[in-house]
Amino acid sequence: MTAVTPALGEHELALHDRARAVIPGGMYGHMAVTSFSAAHPQFIVSGDGCRVTDADGREYLDLMSGWGPVVLGHRHPGVTAAVIDQLGHGDCLDGASPVAVDFAELLVDTVPSADWAMFCKNGTDATTTCVTTARAATGKRKVLVARGAYHGAVPWCSLRGAGVTDEDQAHLVHYDYNDLSSAEAAAAEAGDDLAAILVCPMRHDVKRDQELVDPAFARGLRALADRTGSVLIVDDVRCGFRLDLGGSWEPLGVRPDLTAWSKAIANGQALGAVTGIEALRDAARSIYVTGSFWYAAVPLAAGLATLTELRKGRALPDMVRTGQRLRDGLAQQAVAHGFEIRQTGPVQMPMLSFAGDEGFRLVTAWAEAAGERGVYLHPWHNWFLSAAHTDADIDDILDRTNDAFAALG
Ligand SMILES: *Cc1c(COP(=O)(O)O)cnc(C)c1O
Repeated sequence: MTAVTPALGEHELALHDRARAVIPGGMYGHMAVTSFSAAHPQFIVSGDGCRVTDADGREYLDLMSGWGPVVLGHRHPGVTAAVIDQLGHGDCLDGASPVAVDFAELLVDTVPSADWAMFCKNGTDATTTCVTTARAATGKRKVLVARGAYHGAVPWCSLRGAGVTDEDQAHLVHYDYNDLSSAEAAAAEAGDDLAAILVCPMRHDVKRDQELVDPAFARGLRALADRTGSVLIVDDVRCGFRLDLGGSWEPLGVRPDLTAWSKAIANGQALGAVTGIEALRDAARSIYVTGSFWYAAVPLAAGLATLTELRKGRALPDMVRTGQRLRDGLAQQAVAHGFEIRQTGPVQMPMLSFAGDEGFRLVTAWAEAAGERGVYLHPWHNWFLSAAHTDADIDDILDRTNDAFAALG
């Protein structure tokens, strides 16, 4: 049996009190831990490989990987060396660093649909830049988006209503993921004002099982964009650099016109990117997008080091192997403990739910029991493997999840 520690130590609780006084809600956004668990620490002081340590010195085997960005493991030596080296030259300078050119060249060489690249800070910048480019290229306004899909947390695409006006989203037309006829109906509704079709490589909306893309749907969206003269944008912010380095739809042979990247692109440094086809180069040049920190050299150096490491070819197959080991182990445990579970999505981006689990009560209790046994995972958002997970780490995780299933009684 693995050790069980009572949820939340004294340093954690003291930080909660201090945070509530000076940060609205104590914390906000996806990292507001109270929104999903009573047994996970809010504050993490360090990370190493596939382990993170909280403010009370408790170590967790990490299945969230910084919620996606950490694809090679926390403090990966090669990326850390690149960061330290670039810091020795400077980060935020008066012009872009040459490393921007180095990294753009590497992206264009890696991603078949990329003839050019632009950099920004995060995934929302990237999706917003894609939409702006598409509107500039077409002179049209409407954007098709899948109902419930997450493309960032600014008013034009936010999924939460507070502080967002109807006008902010007036030019979005919704379709249902994997339902081509609904996308065709949305395109018809947009009529001759259709600028872009925005789509994620798979359905990974929170609080529902993940759903892989139907290849016919992906091909159908490509044809729909071609037929309507609109721009096909793939939001690869979450899946990018975990499924296929050339882009997550590359195995399907479906190439986007524009792709939004972020999360895993720089192993945890703040960086986003847009890549696009030759025909959209002038439109990308015509728009005005920028930011004080968009040209910072350290994240670009981290991106260059991350993609260089990924291109060696071991990280993705390793994540598939360890992800499959985790999935197989969890499936066996559920059967042994008499629970019916579903595991969805690609194995390197796992998600687990319990059958008939009203209000996520069972999965939350299980995730909290795992947290108390030193495994950091989420009840209703997908998890992320990193290349730092070894088979032995997965077995260690499985020992603890087995006890978490047992604790559900
Ligand atoms: C995380 C995410 C975004 C937003 O990226 P940020 O870096 O949080 O701005 C956009 N699209 C998808 C699919 C994401 O998962």
